[in-house]
Amino acid sequence: MQRPGLLDRLVQAQAERAQQSLLRRLRTVESVAGSRIIVDGKSLLNFASNDYLGLAQHPALREALARSAARWGVGATASHLLGGHREEHALLEEKLARWTGRERALLFSTGYMANLGAIGALLRAGDVCVQDKLNHASLLDGAQLSGANLKRYAHADATAAERQLISMPEAAALLATDGVFSMDGDIAPLHELAALCKTQHATLMVDDAHGLGVLGTEGAGSLAEAELDQHDAPVLMATLGKALGVAGAFVAGSASLIDGLIQFAHTHTYTTAIPPALAAAASVAVDLARAESWRRDKLQRLIALWRNGAARRGLTLLESRTPIQPLLVGGSEDALRISLQMENAGFYIPAIRPPTVPAGKARLRITLSAAHEEADIEHLLDALAGTLTRGGAV
Ligand SMILES: *Cc1c(COP(=O)(O)O)cnc(C)c1O
Repeated sequence: MQRPGLLDRLVQAQAERAQQSLLRRLRTVESVAGSRIIVDGKSLLNFASNDYLGLAQHPALREALARSAARWGVGATASHLLGGHREEHALLEEKLARWTGRERALLFSTGYMANLGAIGALLRAGDVCVQDKLNHASLLDGAQLSGANLKRYAHADATAAERQLISMPEAAALLATDGVFSMDGDIAPLHELAALCKTQHATLMVDDAHGLGVLGTEGAGSLAEAELDQHDAPVLMATLGKALGVAGAFVAGSASLIDGLIQFAHTHTYTTAIPPALAAAASVAVDLARAESWRRDKLQRLIALWRNGAARRGLTLLESRTPIQPLLVGGSEDALRISLQMENAGFYIPAIRPPTVPAGKARLRITLSAAHEEADIEHLLDALAGTLTRGGAV
């Protein structure tokens, strides 16, 4: 028998990753207080969190969680369709629909599952799914799993997207894009893509994991900021684990979309509902995210401080006005070295390497939060400038 051993092959693949400075390492965070974390006994300023509004540790979220857990216990004990759907879930869905200006919303356990479920319910073999090259892995996996033809286009290039659509004029088509790109921080050309979808009779799906809470009036997201409604962008997915500081995700859109997902989205049907206590905490997070615009204002001030400071120190940043502010390094080994030097200087900024980003585009993905203070940004800038001067230009 010449059959290869699966575990041996996995070990071999790990060795290859290690050799290319691409090995991932799981680290345990021992403590969190505001934007400080303790890892391996070291107290570090955290510039890797997606808690953009600083809500993850908010006392009102903790209280809502505890109250709901006192009522129900912890687990939802079943899927949404088989007794797991509780009052907290229903209220949160209504709240999310109102916030995003959509008719209805449907909860999923994670953003990854929401994308797999929505794309899987919409597409079949023979259809086409057109996607930005830099889309999140869950959108790309969703298209692959659906059996549709996946056609990727050059990043943020609506003309390239049009060519892909035109290449399959008879096929039912979904165009899916991140609203805010998770590793680059830039925003998709939403107006162009919406116009293209109209002329090409394609359906636009936007993954707003990093836009919700951060962009638009009351933080309603990248589509709200671009003033694109349910007709322009019929499928909106966003998560509850980033700016809202909780966990879970939802798809929002027309009543017929949501009814269809309840019937056909496997990742909704065949999985346990998120604990109602998490839905209760997320409801409070939505209220705070909408009402406390000072969090967005502070975030914008910190982003401006960071970008001006970086420009003054000769650091080249990617074009981004969101809290995702990557510093492009290039090689994986260099990115790891700079990340380690920054850690020794008291900062947690992991290196993001292929295959998460394209080859030769390794980077430090710096994320800013309303939980940071201006002094944190100044310290970060000084430490980065020092490290990069010592280690050679980036
Ligand atoms: C984080 C993220 C997801 C996945 O969301 P989870 O709830 O963490 O599974 C999906 N899309 C994008 C763009 C993301 O950044």
